[in-house]
Order: sequence, then structure tokens, then C-alpha cells
Amino acid sequence: MNKVHNFSAGPAILPQSAIDASIQALQNFGGTGLSLIEVSHRGKEFEAVVAEACNLVKEILNLGADYEVIFLQGGASLQFDMIPMNFLAPGKTAAYVNTGVWASRAIKEAKMFGDVNVLASSEDNNFSYIPKDYSIPADAAYYHCTSNNTIYGTEMFAFPETNVPMICDMSSDIFSRPFDASKFDMIYAGAQKNMGPAGTTLVILKKSFLEKANAKVPTMLNYKIHVENGSMYNTPSVFAIFVCMHTLRWIKEIGLEAMGVRNKAKADLLYAEIDRNSMFKGTVATEDRSRMNVNFVLTDKSHEEPFLKFCSERNLSGLKGHRSVGGLRASLYNALEIESVQALVDAMQTYEKLQA
Ligand SMILES: *Cc1c(COP(=O)(O)O)cnc(C)c1O
Repeated sequence: MNKVHNFSAGPAILPQSAIDASIQALQNFGGTGLSLIEVSHRGKEFEAVVAEACNLVKEILNLGADYEVIFLQGGASLQFDMIPMNFLAPGKTAAYVNTGVWASRAIKEAKMFGDVNVLASSEDNNFSYIPKDYSIPADAAYYHCTSNNTIYGTEMFAFPETNVPMICDMSSDIFSRPFDASKFDMIYAGAQKNMGPAGTTLVILKKSFLEKANAKVPTMLNYKIHVENGSMYNTPSVFAIFVCMHTLRWIKEIGLEAMGVRNKAKADLLYAEIDRNSMFKGTVATEDRSRMNVNFVLTDKSHEEPFLKFCSERNLSGLKGHRSVGGLRASLYNALEIESVQALVDAMQTYEKLQA
């Protein structure tokens, strides 16, 4: 079979080493003679997987001993509820920035539990930029932002300076480049964009912040319970965590510095073609262009369907834009090779010549 270039926004492309290790473990996990999905999560073989996955997260992000790492279920979306339930105390206000669908959903959920102050929003211009001109009230319970807006294709390359605890939804750009994790009290990410299959969510918590959590939260939604039980209060997503561990091994081998360079090269290559080729144009503010999700449109909309068909004939898959924005979106997650971006650029150039 010819190689299919996978530009899917999520679930998304994973490193071949993680896929191969998963196939092997589905047959015979760690020499047990049993499949990964038919052994106890309390066995020493799987406990080693969770431990290694958590340690790799700490190593890759340079987290100190003051951080906890856990894997939960319910997707990034459940975090939208767990965060205010655990950290929005009565009488306090939480500060949010609205940069798209996911941020809006986080805001909507937080409002069910307490007072929310939306500091800034880019909704006025269809979320095509990152608002930067706002200040965070010093008495906010926490500040919440979304580092990469998967649907609109904008990304935060700088974070505010504040003494207020910072929480970030990094579902679609975690491990894509180096950043200072010590600035954050909490980071979370659904696995299926840049880390593994759907079914698990990485949560990183600063111990001093966790200590402030509300104790009266239902058990399954209580961060302290999950931390105390090492992600094993109940049965975790065994398969998903296993794949994450292998992706994390691969990320560590490359290193975040090199990963950032790779990802910038891929994004630069595609944005350069979008800007050069008169048949296409980008949809977001240039300085806020995401390196993970590249949104663009055909200048003549009637070419959109034919171009998508042209791409799929060339094994370029997953390029249709999200239903809420239309156009095209090329997701360039860690595991996508620059050859795939080059194949897309070649298709754009060939398509342009065919119309001339
Ligand atoms: C995909 C995504 C979500 C939702 O993730 P689920 O795991 O489907 O709940 C939240 N935030 C961001 C930034 C995303 O890209």
C-alpha cells in the first residue's frame, strides 16, 4: 500500500515505534504470554508502564519533585468540570481567556460551579487571533488558558506573568516544543492529539496547588484521590497509557528542543506555500499561527471540494477543516514527517499549475 499522509486533527498520527510496540503487546505483553488488554492493571508489568509514563513526562518537561503526574479518563472535556469543582472555592472568581470552542466549553462548565471572569475573547473575529491585552486580577482563584486552539489554528507562544495559579489546556501542542512548565500550577492534555490514542488524559499538578483543592468533590472527580492512588483508583485506560508511554519514549529520544525545530520547519514550509500560492490564503493572524494545526482556505471557494478530492487521490488524508470553520486544516503533530508536508506543498503547486 502507498503511504497515506495523515493530517488528521485528532485522533491523530502517532510514531510508528508506538504502533509497532502496541501490536506486539496486544499479542504478548512484556513476556507474560498474554495480551496487554487481558491482564490485570495491578500486575507488576502494567504498574511499570504507568510509572515509566509518569516519569517520562517529568523528565521531558523538566518537572521538579513539586509536581504530580496522573492519567485520567473522560477526555480533556472532563477537566473543564474537574478544574472548577476542585479549585473554584465559593466566593472566589476564576479567570478565563476565550480563544475558541474548547476555551468556550471550559468557561461554560466553570460557570456551573462559580463566578467566572472572561478576561478577553477573540470571538469578535472568529477566534482568528490570540488576545494579549488583558491583566489577571490578583485575587482570581486561577487563570485558565488554551495554548493551542486546535479548531481555529492559533497558538500561544508566550504566557502571562502572574502570581495567580496558571492552568493550561495543552491538549494539542504538549510536547511539541520546549516551554517553561514550572510557570504552571496545572497542565492537562487529552492524549489523542499528540501523545496516544483516545481514552486517557494527562494531568500535571503542582503539589502546593493541589493542597488548596476542595475536599468535598465526588471521588472520581477528585484530583487528590487520583494522585494518592497513582492513577489507579479504578481501572485506568490500560491500552491508551501503554501507547502514551511508547510515544513518550520516542519524544524523549528526539528531545523537546529538536522536536520544536522539526515542528517549526514543517509549519514554516506549509505557511510559506500558503502565502506564495495565490490560490490559497491563511485564516489567522500571522504572529499567532499555530505550528500544530494550519488553517487555510481556497481564495475561490468553488475550488475547495475539487482540491480536497485532488489531495485524497494523492493519499493526503484528513485535510477537511472543522465543521465550525470550514476550509482546510492540516494538522502537523509531532509524528508527522516533513516529507508529508512536502507532499501537501507539491499538491498545492501542481493544483495551481493545472488551473493556469
Ligand atoms: C480535542 C481538544 C479538547 C477535547 O478533548 P476530548 O479529549 O475530546 O475531551 C479539549 N481541548 C483542546 C485544546 C482540544 O484540542
